[in-house]
Amino acid sequence: MVAFNKTHNCKICNREGVYFYDEQFLSPRLTKYFIDYYGEEKFKLFINKLEGINFILLKCDNCKFIWQKNSPDDKFSYLLYENLIDSDKSLEKSKLKFVKDKFRVSHEINLLFHKFKKQKINILDFGAGWGHWLLSGDKNKYNPYAFELSNKRKNFLKKMEINVIDFDNINNYKNCFHFIRLDQVLEHLDNFNHIFKILKKLARKDCIFFISVPDGSNLLKDPYNIKIQKGPIQPLEHLNCFSRFSLEKLILRENFQIIGLKETIIMHFYYFLNGKANISLFYNDVKNYFYSTSIKFKFK
Ligand SMILES: [Zn+2]
Repeated sequence: MVAFNKTHNCKICNREGVYFYDEQFLSPRLTKYFIDYYGEEKFKLFINKLEGINFILLKCDNCKFIWQKNSPDDKFSYLLYENLIDSDKSLEKSKLKFVKDKFRVSHEINLLFHKFKKQKINILDFGAGWGHWLLSGDKNKYNPYAFELSNKRKNFLKKMEINVIDFDNINNYKNCFHFIRLDQVLEHLDNFNHIFKILKKLARKDCIFFISVPDGSNLLKDPYNIKIQKGPIQPLEHLNCFSRFSLEKLILRENFQIIGLKETIIMHFYYFLNGKANISLFYNDVKNYFYSTSIKFKFK
């Protein structure tokens, strides 16, 4: 019974990966990490899946990108995200984030609303989790949609009156969205081609996309000294470790165009003319244009 997929070649440029880290998943060090992170009881539920499998990291210097060679298959992933991660704790975390970010997110949504000059826009949070981002804005201005696979989260989202999309109904939403965001999603995925195909199908021609992933730039500078911990490289969960360079390369490979500085400034200026402005959001968008692993882009 193998619960893992193997990826030998770079997920961005397809060159053969360079090995630089190899340790058994059940080594004392990784075992300690799993027990600390998931708890001893939960660890017992998947210990047998790890037998004889190694935690292997490969890198591509051409793309400044790191990935885990062995990644959990669909069934193991579902177990991991639906049953092993403590859902009460994760909901609590999401609620705290909602309170902390509500003001800023409502401005983020307003900014988009003013850009499109429509009565209402369609917004998709792809991998929405508990939906805290979608709940933060003024619902008169947008229809909230969440793409989510976890049943617990889907039920919660429906209760919050968020429209839920999954693989069963995805074909009903072709060319539907003005804005699609993937926040902390791409680092978990095995296959980028598949996800970009879906995004292209769901987006309107004038859609704005936003992707944000953990910034692994520092780890990429010194890959031989990585630590086993939560962060951009996290056993089983964070399968991909990006730098700005690699994220940009992936987006360009998919034939998208990164939203330019001029367009970013015009968007904020228009928002300002409509009587609103948010300096920290403006600062963030400009900063993200230059560095960071958070990128806004659109079709060419
Ligand atoms: Zn590469």
